[in-house]
Amino acid sequence: MKKVVKFGGSSLASAEQFKKVASIILAEESRRYVVPSAPGKRYSSDTKVTDMLYGCYALAENGEDFSNELNAIKARYNEIIDGLGLDLNLDGEFAIVEENFKNKAGRHYAASRGEYLNGIVLANYLGFEFIDSATVIFFKEDGTLNDKKTQKVLSAKLAETKYAVIPGFYGGNDDGTVHTFSRGGSDVTGSIVAKACHADVYENWTDVSGFMVADPRIIKNPEVIDTITYRELRELSYMGASVLHEDAIFPVRKEGIPINIRNTNAPEDRGTFIVESTCKKSDFIITGIAGKKGFASVNIEKDMMNAEVGFGRKILSVFEENGLSFEHMPSGIDTLTVLIHQSEFEEKEQKILGGIHRAVQPDHIELETDLALIAVVGRGMKSVRGVSGRIFSALAHAHVNVKMIDQGSSELNIIIGVSNDDYEAAIQAIYHIFVTARI
Ligand code: ASP
Repeated sequence: MKKVVKFGGSSLASAEQFKKVASIILAEESRRYVVPSAPGKRYSSDTKVTDMLYGCYALAENGEDFSNELNAIKARYNEIIDGLGLDLNLDGEFAIVEENFKNKAGRHYAASRGEYLNGIVLANYLGFEFIDSATVIFFKEDGTLNDKKTQKVLSAKLAETKYAVIPGFYGGNDDGTVHTFSRGGSDVTGSIVAKACHADVYENWTDVSGFMVADPRIIKNPEVIDTITYRELRELSYMGASVLHEDAIFPVRKEGIPINIRNTNAPEDRGTFIVESTCKKSDFIITGIAGKKGFASVNIEKDMMNAEVGFGRKILSVFEENGLSFEHMPSGIDTLTVLIHQSEFEEKEQKILGGIHRAVQPDHIELETDLALIAVVGRGMKSVRGVSGRIFSALAHAHVNVKMIDQGSSELNIIIGVSNDDYEAAIQAIYHIFVTARI
């Protein structure tokens, strides 16, 4: 059994958190490769080290004095080192960082130091080897991952290293400079390492006990999803639910390695398993509910629309020409509705309306704003009768007016459009009917 364990910033924000992390890692021999983030927030108004580094480097780039900012970062690490009683001194490392900042080594280099230094501290504390990610994870010139080279070099390195710390978030370019993933990218590093060593599980340790059935800001103490498929996760993430960087899915998904989301502050909780496919039924027919506010709809009406070949294409090409992507496009016989993000649409509203008039000469165009979309997602909905019936009667009881419905033929999700004002009430009603009422 071989596990890759990634710890997020809040799991490594202080010496106290480091102690929890070490006891988790050392509890199982199979936890062999550790991917740390940079120290995150210790309390809600705190600043993440990554943000401190960006701020500090911005001063350096402008040729301004950045010593106070760099000292504040140093203090974050020293607090951890002292709290753990380590015999480790990062002065030499910080002198190099200072020199490189003065020489304007770039924002990627700057941000990556958070994980790099945290990796050194964690490796020292655990007694594991430290592997600088710039020597084993590689990027192409266009900034995308060089998967082939990475897998070759990284697997060879891991094959000869039993226990190691490999910092998250960055890798190296061919010219030896550093490159970072987008924010939250340590999740991606963990996934790449899991693929390279053919891990049995990729454990992603964070500060929640898994993926919730619904947003905890709307539902108090929502149930945790036990097992979710990659496809379900993608549907929910797209609609705003997030615990994991989107790109973290691809490397492990292809290899069939499950991701287990776990809570550093409650290690006894089983967390959520993210898997390619499973026979396991979800506990509540639905797997999760997620949604987003801020959509607008353009309702286009024209008599005999159904007989006009190319009508939909002409309308969509107007959106395309204006650089807007659409979310949904429900249609009737003589009507067609296009749902888009309101903020993007507002800037180009008149150009788009003019374009539609020219393209299809509609009888009437009506705009509706302040809409929310809610996705009810679940592999368990397939072929189960009455799922949509239950959703709509729950919404009717909660006095929520449904403005749009869209169910993909995969039966994996049902999308419902409601007014922004009804958004929370709608989610509560759906959660109640499928989850609370069943427990
Ligand atoms: N430290 C980086 C960030 O704050 C990457 C990570 O934590 O995953 O975005």
